[in-house]
Amino acid sequence: MKYISTRGQSPALTFEEAMLSGLARDGGLYVPETWPTLSTDQIADFAGKPYEEVAYTVMKPFVGDTFTDSEFKEIINKAYAGFAHTARCPLVQLDDNHFLLELFHGPTLAFKDVAMQLIGQMFQVALKRRGERVTIVGATSGDTGSAAIEAFKGLDAVDVFIMFPDGRVSDVQRRQMTTPSQSNIHALAVAGDFDDCQARLKDMFNDFDFRDGVKLAGVNSINWARVMAQVVYYFTSAVSLGAPHRKVSFTVPTGNFGDIFAGYVAKRMGLPIDRLVMATNQNDILHRTLQTGEHTKMGVKPSISPSMDIEVSSNFERLVFDLYDREGGAVVQLMDALKNDGTFTLSQGAVAKLHDEFDSGNCSEAETSDAIKRAYVDVGEVLCPHSAIAVKVADNIKRDKTVPMITLATAHPAKFPAAVKAACGVTPELPARMEDLFNRSERLTKVDNDLTAIETIIRERIAQ
Ligand SMILES: *Cc1c(COP(=O)(O)O)cnc(C)c1O
Repeated sequence: MKYISTRGQSPALTFEEAMLSGLARDGGLYVPETWPTLSTDQIADFAGKPYEEVAYTVMKPFVGDTFTDSEFKEIINKAYAGFAHTARCPLVQLDDNHFLLELFHGPTLAFKDVAMQLIGQMFQVALKRRGERVTIVGATSGDTGSAAIEAFKGLDAVDVFIMFPDGRVSDVQRRQMTTPSQSNIHALAVAGDFDDCQARLKDMFNDFDFRDGVKLAGVNSINWARVMAQVVYYFTSAVSLGAPHRKVSFTVPTGNFGDIFAGYVAKRMGLPIDRLVMATNQNDILHRTLQTGEHTKMGVKPSISPSMDIEVSSNFERLVFDLYDREGGAVVQLMDALKNDGTFTLSQGAVAKLHDEFDSGNCSEAETSDAIKRAYVDVGEVLCPHSAIAVKVADNIKRDKTVPMITLATAHPAKFPAAVKAACGVTPELPARMEDLFNRSERLTKVDNDLTAIETIIRERIAQ
């Protein structure tokens, strides 16, 4: 399988090259040249199988012969061994035909672990074979950073720098990033919001001197391997509820559009998904895009669901590429307009295709709190704010009630204790393995929202 850029100007890469580089040199994102498909029999065969076995079959067409079969199996087994639930991504029932897919049993209590733990193992094997060392730089709205740090801490072939918006992540999120003591881990508190962090990351990838000098690698959800790993749980959960013999729908709390895009990929691969519902918080650019066809930035307002406080949804570009029949030129025009004017308008044809697959809904701050409270009162489930938004949107959307709805629970409530306590009166406890998080000492570097300042710190640190 070869990987091509959504902007059509970069050469096709192998899986390993696409994974190790992250962003294409033309500013685009890598996508597989074609969507591989699984037969109905292959999907039916997933019933009752361990998560790791399904993961192998779903991801194998994307990685091709990058790893030997036994190498890839070992990578997958190691990636999920640290999950605190034997089913890895278990389902819980919320209501008649409405299910919650718990994705937060990994080491940092958010769904980002599902992909990041796998990427950590894949980088390790690939870099060891190449005898190379890379510098991983990531931008985080809170959960990607800690997941990356957990996945890469102590590995000798990588330095990890994580930029997070200073003062805009929860205490648990910040401490998960600033308390690991390994010397290859560097937490950078940037004076700005998540979109600033993500923009500086893209600037670094476009600064080829810097990029090549430090051997820059990215593990944000712009990295194809992240999306690939997330495709797996769409299959395991759907099959648990009767697929491929019956359709299912998904509602996904959406920020950077990586997670829901993985659902779109599962559908392209042959999983019978009826509707994919994007749930947004008050930063609802994607919901507005679905309603109006206009993708317009209005400024990010901090919310109690900080991991979704995003306006530049990077992975949306991957979908736009398909909506425009994989015309890189069309994508370049739209992305230039977004960068220069803060807006683009989708063609009628693109909007029609969008509506073929997706529905959407948004959720205000008050509605988010109310959804946390209702889930606790009605079902006894304590939800994190992100998951609560999705549950609310799934409940509100007009849908075929005979089709099971699977709502993705993306974080453990203990990652956002203040918001959860305020909403339902319960203070969610951190699992025992993290009990001492607030006693560990923190280590972080504050930096201006300035490319040169950030690049200087990175160059100095890796020279040490
Ligand atoms: C990252 C994150 C999201 C958003 O996922 P995207 O792939 O960026 O759309 C939602 N909820 C939580 C808890 C997250 O960490």
